[in-house]
Amino acid sequence: MTNDRETKAVAPGAVPGKALLQLDGLTKVFETEEVETHALSNIQLTIRQNEWVAIVGPSGSGKSTLLAVLGLLDTATRGSYLLDGRSVLELSPTDRAKVRNQHIGFIFQSFNLIGDLTVFENVELPLTYRGLPAQERKQRVERALERVGMAHRARHLPGQLSGGQQQRVAVARAVAGDPLILLADEPTGNLDSKNGEAVMQLLSDLHKAGSTLCMVTHDPAHARIATRTVSLFDGRVVQDEQLR
Ligand code: ADP
Ligand code: MG
Repeated sequence: MTNDRETKAVAPGAVPGKALLQLDGLTKVFETEEVETHALSNIQLTIRQNEWVAIVGPSGSGKSTLLAVLGLLDTATRGSYLLDGRSVLELSPTDRAKVRNQHIGFIFQSFNLIGDLTVFENVELPLTYRGLPAQERKQRVERALERVGMAHRARHLPGQLSGGQQQRVAVARAVAGDPLILLADEPTGNLDSKNGEAVMQLLSDLHKAGSTLCMVTHDPAHARIATRTVSLFDGRVVQDEQLR
């Protein structure tokens, strides 16, 4: 089963990229007073270097939970998760936060910028948490803002920007630390179509430049831009399709 999927995940003739994220038997159960919800059941998923995976499926199928576990924003109930070969589910909360900060770039539907920090400071913050020296932080922030076309807004506050511009800043924050993977949960979900297309173009540019991406999307046209679609239903992978 796993072997079939791993073989399928590589286009004919393509050199398989290094496995960056490997989930094996990953299960996530939410327990509330009355009910147990199996948000994810026995997920097998390997994401390789420079893949662009679109996670699709109906509302409630587990897409956000899967992304949160991949992004180390949440833990799992059972199963294993290797990030660049390292087992990360049993890390202490402090170590998990360190690994997340260093290796994961997360883009949220609602941007999640800090309103009273400037654009520059928002992008800089994860680098400060990481303990990088000021000069390196400045270089990385400037480069990231240039990549998303927002260098001229470095001194602005998020509230002075449009939604599309805020999401570009959020993309800059996600890439500034050179993460192993960019995770995006409905990155265009709060944007009009014009700004949504601009953010998709940005993700496409990052992919072409070598980034590995995994994004949740509702939009079939956006899913087709990815190199692979993984469909969830009731917390299970029901289809895993290589597009290119
Ligand atoms: P999707 O993003 O595909 O809409 P989610 O991952 O948000 O789906 O949710 C998957 C299932 O897990 C749903 O049944 C949802 O109600 C449940 N769920 C998600 N988060 C929680 C939580 N924090 N507590 C309890 N149940 C949750
Ligand atoms: Mg969701």
